[in-house]
Amino acid sequence: RSKNAGRSCFHVYSAELKAEADQRNVLEIELREAIWREEIEVFYQPVIELGTGRVKSVEALARWHHGTKGYIPPAEFIAVAEAGGLIVELGNQVLARACRDATSMPADVKVAVNLSALQFAGTNLVDTVTFALAQSGLPQTRLELEITESVFLADTEENLKTLQRLKALGVSIALDDFGVGYSSLSYLTAFPFDKVKIDKSFIDRVDRSETVAVLKSIVQLAKTLKLSIVAEGVESSEQVRRLQSLGIPLGQGFHFSKPVPLAGLSWQGPAARRKRRAA
Ligand code: C2E
Ligand code: MG
Ligand code: MG
Ligand code: MG
Repeated sequence: RSKNAGRSCFHVYSAELKAEADQRNVLEIELREAIWREEIEVFYQPVIELGTGRVKSVEALARWHHGTKGYIPPAEFIAVAEAGGLIVELGNQVLARACRDATSMPADVKVAVNLSALQFAGTNLVDTVTFALAQSGLPQTRLELEITESVFLADTEENLKTLQRLKALGVSIALDDFGVGYSSLSYLTAFPFDKVKIDKSFIDRVDRSETVAVLKSIVQLAKTLKLSIVAEGVESSEQVRRLQSLGIPLGQGFHFSKPVPLAGLSWQGPAARRKRRAA
């Protein structure tokens, strides 16, 4: 009896799995088509200098406006792109678009582009970045590449070499989602990063003394390593106040602006206006 129960259980389970896999395949096929038609859009979210309210850079974030399902979050389609071997092409498109768009932004504003660890697997990431810069005419100093610890998890030696070659181009390298990985601190010293982006989960809990203690040591380490710090996911002026008192110079989050299309970016945001009035 238990054997039969087990068997029917397996059937239900596998049917569910199959439905899920089918849905994923459909999504993958649709994504492949959207990439091929260059329908993936790029939105931008400003990174603000907390002391002045100025926009220092913008982060490029991919957006897929699906024909019937509306906007699908990157949390869903980036994974599909990675699993389906589409991430290199998708990443190239975002990079090219971001570099092109950045040429119409103020010259003191940098653009940051997220890279998947899988983009390091192909040997031509350095060529791709070189080409995107040349094609757009964007100075290399205005491009920032965001990577996560996953770049160090496989092919570590090879990826480190690629990172070094990217840095040698004159672009800056940021470590994204810092603090949520397994051994974050060691990764900070594994490569001469220019910037570290502290994950939103810390900012959410910035009112707690344990979090303050952790942030203090990150700030200290960043000073020693001479790297810039960004707080991700800043949602309130109270958080801004706490981050400033910790000596964190830069913030990004819904408190300042959600990611918006290029045309929606404002270089004189409410924060900048407030500061100007106060001055
Ligand atoms: P990320 O690189 O850490 O980007 C920051 C994410 O936090 C964005 O989510 C942004 O919309 C969100 N965020 C910013 N401020 C706030 C806030 O105050 N509150 C809340 N709740 N969220 C905030 P998004 O655009 O959904 O992207 C999610 C992730 O998808 C990104 O995390 C990045 O890892 C990945 N991603 C997005 N675009 C690309 C891309 O072009 N290539 C690659 N490889 N990954 C991308
Ligand atoms: Mg990022
Ligand atoms: Mg992040
Ligand atoms: Mg994140």
